[in-house]
Amino acid sequence: MAGWEGFTYLPAFDSPAAERRHRKERLAASFRLFGRFGFDEGVAGHITMRDPEHLDHFWVNPFGMAFSHIRVSDLILVSSQGEVVEGDGLLNGAAFAIHSQVHAARPDVIAAAHSHSIHGKSWSALGRLLDPLTQDACAFYGDHALFDDYTGVVLDPEEGKRIAHALGDRKAVILRNHGLLTVGHSVDEAVWWFITMERTCQAQLLAEAAGPTVSIDPAHAELTATQVGSHVAGYFAFQPLYAKITREQPDLFG
Ligand SMILES: [Zn+2]
Repeated sequence: MAGWEGFTYLPAFDSPAAERRHRKERLAASFRLFGRFGFDEGVAGHITMRDPEHLDHFWVNPFGMAFSHIRVSDLILVSSQGEVVEGDGLLNGAAFAIHSQVHAARPDVIAAAHSHSIHGKSWSALGRLLDPLTQDACAFYGDHALFDDYTGVVLDPEEGKRIAHALGDRKAVILRNHGLLTVGHSVDEAVWWFITMERTCQAQLLAEAAGPTVSIDPAHAELTATQVGSHVAGYFAFQPLYAKITREQPDLFG
């Protein structure tokens, strides 16, 4: 028993408009959380969510707006050709180059998150996968990849395609010398994986700086991955953060 039986996972909606509004509220709240956690680095970073009706379109933050200020009405809708078709604001070329290819390659993915968070990018400089050093790290056991290349800011969709290829069917990819990218079957899940992966990088950096580490053995890492690394587990883990940020910053719904 994981304990969340009886919990409503991914509520049903009676119209695409209702589902769109629900996802956009999660997305705006996610930017507030990214701001709260200090995941912003100037204008870098983007979280995207697939539109529930126009499946090759995605919603994203306007380029150059502080994560901590983003409201539902600030989000922009982008077509598969990179045109802003709803909302006001600039489109980050890197957001389009990476996320358009990830969404195209992974029809199951509703949302994708990326930023230049400090521990994620520090870990990415090592060019290594994360080890199962903690229970939380097991969410990524056998379920993350390394994009072992760096050739400048990603502005070419062909580079985005290579990142999507490295990601494969996993939940996360470490972009070497750059940062983390996570995906999920909901905004909630993708954003939770980002938050906990950033902390997992921090934990491994701290542990390895302190001394030799002990990994969880493969059989138990695999078991733990099924317990903490499922789609529903990721979605569920996000709920207290959503409750907290929406109570503290209700202007995000504007
Ligand atoms: Zn980036």
